[in-house]
Amino acid sequence: MDENVDHRFCVKHLYGNWRKKYPGQEMKGALWSAARANTMSHWEKTMDKLKELNEEAWNDMKQIPIKQWSRAGYSTYPKCDLQVNNMCEAFNRAILEYRDKPIINMLEGLKFYLTNRIVKQRDMVIRYQGDLCPTIQKKLEVSKRDAAAWLPLSAGDPRNSLFEVTNGTWKYAVNLDAKSCACRRWDLTGIPCCHVVACIWYNNTRPEDFVDPYYW
Ligand SMILES: [Zn+2]
Repeated sequence: MDENVDHRFCVKHLYGNWRKKYPGQEMKGALWSAARANTMSHWEKTMDKLKELNEEAWNDMKQIPIKQWSRAGYSTYPKCDLQVNNMCEAFNRAILEYRDKPIINMLEGLKFYLTNRIVKQRDMVIRYQGDLCPTIQKKLEVSKRDAAAWLPLSAGDPRNSLFEVTNGTWKYAVNLDAKSCACRRWDLTGIPCCHVVACIWYNNTRPEDFVDPYYW
């Protein structure tokens, strides 16, 4: 394995194998909570719960490096927190009817499918108004909706980039210059989380301008 390239397991498939040894909804929930945890402290809590449920199952998961299966361990470099490979599965399903054809017919079928898809996507983008990709904009709108519940407290640094953001119960440290929030959502996805949006609004700036260039 190249040390500069991160490999992740598809958690759906990982769970599929694991389930044979550890069946049941409770175990399923425990594994997915650990996989979806964004921070190490949250991941540790979910792992403690798993240990309580079944120590052997906990030990099995401890053997797999965390950076390969939990968001808490994922690198923040790719700005992507995907945990399942359903993008390839969806493509595989779309080409199902062509896959067992003789080679020329198969390629013609793939060409037909891909051309159709590219034209449809292009038409959609031509009509689309906005700077960000549509799905990313939707995610940002959710952050904006949730930001109202959070109060940013500026650290008073000259660039106004350091904040502590609180809802009265929880606190997160935000650094706008470093593009980082302690909840790790912004770091992992490149899309500002609700804590970050609260700080961006405090500065009278636009949340869209803080989305990673990948999504423009
Ligand atoms: Zn956050």
